[in-house]
Amino acid sequence: MKCKQIKELVLTDYLDDQVSKEQKQSIEEHLTQCTACREFAAEAKEVLKNPFESVQPIKAPDHLWNKIEGAIEKHRQESLIQKAWDALSGTFAAHKPVFALSTVAATILLLVAVVKIPAWQTQTAANDYLNEQFEYLVYSDDQTDVGLSDTWVDEYFL
Ligand SMILES: [Zn+2]
Repeated sequence: MKCKQIKELVLTDYLDDQVSKEQKQSIEEHLTQCTACREFAAEAKEVLKNPFESVQPIKAPDHLWNKIEGAIEKHRQESLIQKAWDALSGTFAAHKPVFALSTVAATILLLVAVVKIPAWQTQTAANDYLNEQFEYLVYSDDQTDVGLSDTWVDEYFL
């Protein structure tokens, strides 16, 4: 390797211990033979690595993690609810009163389901649920007398 390459690696992967075994060997071999690179490496280590040697990783307190987790979850649920609302309110505006009732019911069930689903499966479950609701709404659109009996609404409550 040439001096330029050595210096580049010293500044990046070598000091971070991210070079391959072979690279490390050839760098160190070069450093024993080349004074300029050896001095460069020593100086780089002093400036870039030594100040951080004694630094201990800081663990964030649990209450901070909980707060961050809560904020992420809240944001996720709000954006899901917003998406569902946007989609359903579009449907709501475009259809007949009898259909509006089932749309309102679907919205309420959707909100209940989103809130009840445990955090780890919220994303997938909510997406599945949304798809199911949209399929229902599309299907219902083709029917003239949509009642709430004998539907998934019935199944859900009984
Ligand atoms: Zn050199």
